Amino acid sequence: MSNLERDPAEVLLEDRAGGDAMGGDAASGLEILQSRDVPLGGPRAMSVRRTLPQRSRSLIGAWCFVDHYGPDDVTRGRGMVVPPHPHTGLQTVSWLFAGEIDHRDSAGSHATVRPGELNLMTAGRGIQHSEVSTPDTTTLHGAQLWIALPDAFRHAEPRFEHFAPVPVAVGDAVLLVFLGSLCGVASPVPTFSPLVGAQVDLPRGSRVRLDLDPAFEHGVLVDAGPITVNGSLVEEGELAFVGRGIRSLEIEVDDVSVEGSARLLLIGGEPLGEQIVMWWNFIGRDHSEIVEFRRAWQEEVVLASAGAGRFGHVDSFDGAPLPAPEMPGVRLKPRG
Ligand code: MN
Repeated sequence: MSNLERDPAEVLLEDRAGGDAMGGDAASGLEILQSRDVPLGGPRAMSVRRTLPQRSRSLIGAWCFVDHYGPDDVTRGRGMVVPPHPHTGLQTVSWLFAGEIDHRDSAGSHATVRPGELNLMTAGRGIQHSEVSTPDTTTLHGAQLWIALPDAFRHAEPRFEHFAPVPVAVGDAVLLVFLGSLCGVASPVPTFSPLVGAQVDLPRGSRVRLDLDPAFEHGVLVDAGPITVNGSLVEEGELAFVGRGIRSLEIEVDDVSVEGSARLLLIGGEPLGEQIVMWWNFIGRDHSEIVEFRRAWQEEVVLASAGAGRFGHVDSFDGAPLPAPEMPGVRLKPRG
């Protein structure tokens, strides 16, 4: 999806001191990040639960954006329709628990995003894409995750990759490892920095131990819970941050408070080690770069007053591209 905020702030994202396991709950090494509701606008006023970036933490490895949404009834109207919009300097992971989305991008990809499958779009120097829920979709439920590209790779050619991980049982849990590796299960999809991404499902009344790379920091986003992580309760919609140096997560699900199974997304990676600037759907390294990305999008695509350049074009979308919001008067909102 897009960041559809009408008045997005420009934010500086950086690794924080305290990325090692300290702060938060001293016994578990966990720091619980609450979500905030972000309205996406439009007549149906869908909203998402954003847990990253936020003031106390803006990066987990190279993961820089976590929007969690649904389950939302999309049977009225046209469903979810996100017109063509741009991205730079990042990768997007559209991860679904329910529903299907038709994806088209300016790298020439046309894909159906389905639950439990990785759809990884690398914006690199610039891409645009549209996302529309399929006519058969009644419920949309999922997460939109962004990965910041390290400086050495952020001008890469745009591309799109699809991968359907095979579910693997680890103890009582079922893992879908879509990026990196976890508990000996590896994704074949290459990454631009060392990182991991996986869905973990656990029936109620069960537990699992997940061995971690202690060089990584991690985040546990609870989609269905609550769950207990290393002795700390983590509620639905919360993102538990786990600092470096933690070698395993003991995850437990009691047998009364969860309907069906608990479900979480585990993300993690080595600290990015760079400061990045994020505004709307762009990631750059300074304010002037963001201004240039916005100018190119408006002139080349929205107003079509210049020839196609950075963002190419998207075929077969019936409607106008998404105009960029005005840049805020305040340049940068440092985080932390
Ligand atoms: Mn997008």
